Amino acid sequence: MKKVYVLVIFALVVLNVFLWGVLVINNLNEKNNRLNETTTYKKQPKVKNNGIKKTDSKISKPKVAITFDDGPSTVYTKILLDGLKERGVKATFFLTGQEIQYSKAVVKRMAKEGHIIGNHTYSHIDLKKVNYAQGKDEIEKTNDIIKDLTGKKPEYIRPPYGDWNKRLMNETDMSIVLWSVDPEDWKDQNANIVANRVIKNTSDGDVILLHDIFKTSVDAAFIIIDDLREKGYEFVTIDKIDSVKVIKNKNINK
Ligand code: ZN
Repeated sequence: MKKVYVLVIFALVVLNVFLWGVLVINNLNEKNNRLNETTTYKKQPKVKNNGIKKTDSKISKPKVAITFDDGPSTVYTKILLDGLKERGVKATFFLTGQEIQYSKAVVKRMAKEGHIIGNHTYSHIDLKKVNYAQGKDEIEKTNDIIKDLTGKKPEYIRPPYGDWNKRLMNETDMSIVLWSVDPEDWKDQNANIVANRVIKNTSDGDVILLHDIFKTSVDAAFIIIDDLREKGYEFVTIDKIDSVKVIKNKNINK
């Protein structure tokens, strides 16, 4: 009889353990389901945020190029380079060959700091008024001087007065850079007047023309950069601007 009791108790114990096990498993499943729900719920806003971020980064900033002609100046170009470096801005310079001999270190620094150096002829001549050989000499001499100092032949030329000669441009293999915002800084040598004119007239894709041979223009450049950057503009070199004022060599009609 004792054996029967033992068997019955044993069976009851086994049944209990089994039932307890089923309960525990059910409970765990329920917990897991709830956990899944919570995780799904929590994940949703994250996905939403990422979506918003992605859209934001797709909107590119409006771009402008700031360009400086007639330099280098033995006094103001260095001050300009200091201010551009401080602001992390890259600019484009169109140098007159005959001025470079007085500012060789400054020209080397320009190239080293990532600015683009272009050609503005040797003696600031009007390419439409001189004969072909003279024009070619003015361009090539300036390219050679710049290449000697920086190791790179300029790709871009800003023809003085905006006057150019198709054949010359093709044969010297230069792309032309004109401008779209001209505050006439040489006429009004007043930093605030010049800066306000530029700020008022600049929009996406513009090419701003200044002359770094005037202290007022260098001061104006800093006001312009600080103001337009605050409005969301990005300052880039001329090779990164999509403008009809930048005429790539392959597009110059023969
Ligand atoms: Zn000029």
